[in-house]
Amino acid sequence: MTISLLGAGEIREIAESLELHPAKSLGQNFVIDSNTCQKIVRLAVVNQGDHVVEIGPGIGSLTLALLQATDKVTAIEIDERLAQQLPITALSHGVPKGHLQIINDDAMKVFDIPGTPTKLVANLPYNVSVPVLLSMLERFPTITSGVVMVQTEVAERLAARPGSKTYGVPSAKAAWWTDMILADSVSRSVFWPVPNVDSSLVKFIRHEPLGDETLRRITFDLIDRAFGQRRKMLRAIYSDIYGGSGSAETALASAGIDPTSRGESLSVEKFAAIAKQLDRR
Ligand code: SAM
Repeated sequence: MTISLLGAGEIREIAESLELHPAKSLGQNFVIDSNTCQKIVRLAVVNQGDHVVEIGPGIGSLTLALLQATDKVTAIEIDERLAQQLPITALSHGVPKGHLQIINDDAMKVFDIPGTPTKLVANLPYNVSVPVLLSMLERFPTITSGVVMVQTEVAERLAARPGSKTYGVPSAKAAWWTDMILADSVSRSVFWPVPNVDSSLVKFIRHEPLGDETLRRITFDLIDRAFGQRRKMLRAIYSDIYGGSGSAETALASAGIDPTSRGESLSVEKFAAIAKQLDRR
């Protein structure tokens, strides 16, 4: 049986029947253009055999497009009304039972997904997009790639390289697990309601781990410290860790890092080099 996609009219009808007034606090801007959903699925290269995790399926426009490409989707939705409606919508659009698994919860609180998820594809709730994305990468190492739609400003930060103006904590942390690529921009007109920010698609591919969990935690602490005081030099920022700026200078130099540099010029590999040296002490 073929799976049909949702149109703008039906999305509004479902919202009306649920008496749903899209909530800004939950980032509820629904995609009402099926071409955009199919484009996202193509960009994510979803194939049969993939187990896709979608955060915030909403009314289900992207969910149905995903289910056209694979028979295994897990959708995590915080809004109870939407989580209850989604299986009904899926069934009426030709999705066979068992292809869609729904978790009605806050994605930040989900530590277990039955099965082995392989891809993450989502139009993320904008207010929590970075923490949700980073926690998914941390908790589910079997997710090897994905595509997320986020606010353009956030997309640029996620994909930024060291030395660029937009490079910061999200860029350095996301790079611990993945290569992030700014893939495309998305018109405001494909959403209902129309958001007051621009949106873009980011594609990611997981690379070999840079180290174990202990090293990651130390590295992330170094990243947080470095960007918490962007203007200071690293030898000053890390002086309390090393017990003085003189010792910090020596230690940084022996890890191959210029002690007078600032966090914004350091790749995650360089933060990890400092972390390795700290871990050995
Ligand atoms: N995927 C749908 C689409 O493209 O039309 C909806 C995307 S909308 C930008 C974000 C969705 O995430 C909403 O359905 C909202 O209820 C849900 N949401 C918001 N915060 C969430 C959270 N912490 N965990 C899970 N879902 C969340």
